Amino acid sequence: MSSTRVLIIYTGGTIGMRTTERGYAPAKGYLREQLLSMPQFHDSQKPELTTPPSRLGKRIQYQIKEYDPLLDSSNMEHSDWVNIAKDIEAHYLDYDAFIVLHGTDTMAYATAALSFMLVNLAKPVIVTGSQLPLGEVRNDAVENMLGALALAGTYSIPEVCLFFRSKLYRGNRVRKVDASAFDAFDSGNFSPLAYVGVDISVQW
Ligand code: ASP
Repeated sequence: MSSTRVLIIYTGGTIGMRTTERGYAPAKGYLREQLLSMPQFHDSQKPELTTPPSRLGKRIQYQIKEYDPLLDSSNMEHSDWVNIAKDIEAHYLDYDAFIVLHGTDTMAYATAALSFMLVNLAKPVIVTGSQLPLGEVRNDAVENMLGALALAGTYSIPEVCLFFRSKLYRGNRVRKVDASAFDAFDSGNFSPLAYVGVDISVQW
């Protein structure tokens, strides 16, 4: 059975936050702990951080590069975008695809910037995050993570994209349109590149 190697660059944002008395807060190692505890993200019969096979028969072996400190995207600066691009460059030959976990507040700007920085890209770079963290009972994080992993692990879409709420958008065509809905992003003048539903349909 084939498997794909994916690097998850975890910059911060709500997706990996833990619930505390004072609301959501970033916590070192918590995202990894959460992923290891969920069977969709980790097959206990396989090495750590290997997914079960998908409907198309692919497993994804992924690793997590966690930023220290974890960043709230509303505090991120241009230098943080450069750091993400450099991390992708440094690990470019070691992985088949990259997922960047990022806060939603400035995700559209970061994704657009990365799309112009990563010239001659030949592998998928998918930026995602969520409105509610993975650790919440009801959340959009699981779906966004699984969709991003399925796309990154299965299709060769060699550009910087943003995945949110079942839709894969071209990275420099997106804006955040809602701070409280799960359907938080839109691409007004350009149709999504792919839809993740019962099947995944890519608009080649
Ligand atoms: N303030 C958070 C951030 O942008 C919100 C989020 O992750 O959605 O990092």
